[in-house]
Amino acid sequence: MPRLANPFAVPGQWFRGNLHVHTTNSDGAMPPEKLVAHYAYAGWDFIALTDHWKVTELPAPSPVTAGITVIPGIEVGTAPGSTEAGTNYHIVGINVQEAPPRREAQNGAAAAQWYVDAIREQGGEATIAHPYWSGLTLRDVATVCGHLAIEVYNTDTEVHIGRGNSQMLWDDLLSHGIPTLAVAVDDCHRPGQDSLRAWTVVRAPDRSPAAIMAALRAGHFYASTGPEIYDVQLALNGEGSERPYAGTVTVRCGPARSISLVADPTRGGRLNAGTFGMARNARRLKPAGQNPQGIVDGELLTGAEFTLAGIERYARIQVEDDRGRCAWTNPLFMRTGE
Ligand SMILES: [Zn+2]
Repeated sequence: MPRLANPFAVPGQWFRGNLHVHTTNSDGAMPPEKLVAHYAYAGWDFIALTDHWKVTELPAPSPVTAGITVIPGIEVGTAPGSTEAGTNYHIVGINVQEAPPRREAQNGAAAAQWYVDAIREQGGEATIAHPYWSGLTLRDVATVCGHLAIEVYNTDTEVHIGRGNSQMLWDDLLSHGIPTLAVAVDDCHRPGQDSLRAWTVVRAPDRSPAAIMAALRAGHFYASTGPEIYDVQLALNGEGSERPYAGTVTVRCGPARSISLVADPTRGGRLNAGTFGMARNARRLKPAGQNPQGIVDGELLTGAEFTLAGIERYARIQVEDDRGRCAWTNPLFMRTGE
């Protein structure tokens, strides 16, 4: 079961990385050393090389790639017909040393589970790749456990056929009380077309592979295709109160056209930018420190305070900028088994 944690409440630095890419060792267009340099030039802090069925040898460090941490990885897939839609699962392994053997005979979620377990037995972590592209249903994903996260956003499948955003399935899982974390990745095959558009930001003491893996395992990360989230603070009334789960959530972020508190069906809140922007269970926070009487950054938002009624079963924060790009925090809490 994934750890629910608030990465904004722990010490460390933010490191941006991509946990899913392909090189010429599978169906990617760029050799490993060039692809790592591509991400290093763009300022990325870490990258996991996840070729299909092959753990790509990490390229020798160069002056260009000295600033980026490279983690070995892999992408495997179950046999066709493994899912309710008749497709197959793709499972990404991060921090693995060797390819798990193929399990053609096993089918269904059991096959996906076998790969998740095989990746974790090596000390790696598994993510469920591009659920929307794969056509994965709630049942397909809910029957697998032990994975680190699902991909809430996958650039390659978005630019290919517009099936990169798996947000609805994520909320379906959370609404059914299944604690699930989410990463955003490029799944880069053709740098320039499907690179540098989605990332996962981890909060860690340094960018060593061990520190990044530990931060991922602790749930100290959020996903983005653009916006930055600076701070999220959850203040619940707590035990002893009449409504222990009532309280507030405060968000500080880069310029946004909306900030949402996404919760279970019909609940939650949202703040929209603009003079007539709707606000539900939310109020606008003025930019910290400057111009306390007015609003800077034009019409865009930089902060929100949400009210929790105390009946929400989970809540996560979602920030959308004026180009439609999103940032997603992991669920701030979950109430299960009540
Ligand atoms: Zn892939």
